[in-house]
Amino acid sequence: MPDSQEQPPESARPSRAVVWSVLLASVAVAVFFPAADSAASALAPPSHRFVDTESVIDMLPAVGVAIVIATWIFVFWSLIGSFLNVVVYRLPLGESVVHGGSHCPRCSSPIAWHDNLPVVGWLRLNGRCRTCHLPIAARYPVVESICAGLCTAVYFRELVSGGVNLPVRIPDFLHGGVLRLFPNPSSALIGLYLYHCGALCVLLVWGLIAWDGRRLPSRSAVAVLLVAAGLPMLFPVLHPLPIGWHPGSGETASPAAWLLNGLGVSVAGGVAGMLCGRVLHRVLARLLRGDAAGRSGLPLRPPQTLGLGLALVGIVFGWQGMLGTAVLLLVACLVQMLVWSAVVDWPEVPTELVLVVASFVHLCAWRQLTVGLSPWWPGASPTLACLAPAVGMVLVVSLALVAITPASSRPASPGAAALDHPSDEPA
Ligand SMILES: [Zn+2]
Repeated sequence: MPDSQEQPPESARPSRAVVWSVLLASVAVAVFFPAADSAASALAPPSHRFVDTESVIDMLPAVGVAIVIATWIFVFWSLIGSFLNVVVYRLPLGESVVHGGSHCPRCSSPIAWHDNLPVVGWLRLNGRCRTCHLPIAARYPVVESICAGLCTAVYFRELVSGGVNLPVRIPDFLHGGVLRLFPNPSSALIGLYLYHCGALCVLLVWGLIAWDGRRLPSRSAVAVLLVAAGLPMLFPVLHPLPIGWHPGSGETASPAAWLLNGLGVSVAGGVAGMLCGRVLHRVLARLLRGDAAGRSGLPLRPPQTLGLGLALVGIVFGWQGMLGTAVLLLVACLVQMLVWSAVVDWPEVPTELVLVVASFVHLCAWRQLTVGLSPWWPGASPTLACLAPAVGMVLVVSLALVAITPASSRPASPGAAALDHPSDEPA
């Protein structure tokens, strides 16, 4: 595929539009939850309000502080996104992800800190190296924006809200709200927030390595799974869902809870994720590869490391959360297929990257899906009914993949090249 650096200079304009669009979309995703929350509380009758709504003037200082803190959270996660770009590039090559500063891959000149700022640095330089003026791939600011948008959205949804997205666990309204959060933070919620955002970042890295068609080193993947499984053994609160059907006494500190909630949930979730990944791998790979002969484009790439991704999801969310995420993964795959067949130049994406979207949606709506769709949602009830969505979605996606086959005769989408992986090192 053509490298973005080999495109003529005029191509910087569409890349700039893409970067701005993704940045604005990421900010929109980040502010969606507080905005929806404010709208819901403003529209609710006074008797249903959790706290008395103050006048707009009284609220202004609180809103101002909330915006400043959210901006810093967004900037922090965009810096993490910048680091993830480095990891995606260096990990498959076996290079160190911590040593070695940033430099231009063309002229080898070191990149100054102000040119290396996430998103802003790229936009200020118009996507070009300051020294040699050759293009820098638009994917770097796009990944930084997406990482910042997703993790800031989870900050509002999980941390500021007091954990209204978490199942079983009673929402921690005492610690909810930005102004109450910082003087009196809930360590359990902060731990859950970092644990979940860490998992999203790992899935993003694995998805981008799959996008690049590179091989994920298995040792690093195993290390990540072991760390993800080890943390809940030290902090059982990281697993809000128990291994069985019934929540029981919840956050007890007994050795049984430590073993069942810490190790049991991880092992059951990890094994279930691996198995589920194998099933989906077989179904999707056969359909995609079976039709791939003579085809110039596909809505999805055949999965490579989907089993590892779902194993991580199973360790973090438990086996019930993993099944729910798998259902959402198939829904997202269906959406990707429909958009791909309708929009010319829409890029094909690896299934592993779709898993990032599914995991994010599942995390933000975890409790609402489990309660609202009971007994049909995975893990919501001790009946086989909760397995129906998973089986149903596999059938729907299989049928859709078969139905979409005629669209294959069109030429390969050149639009994918605009964001496709560059061969240079991230700034
Ligand atoms: Zn240069």
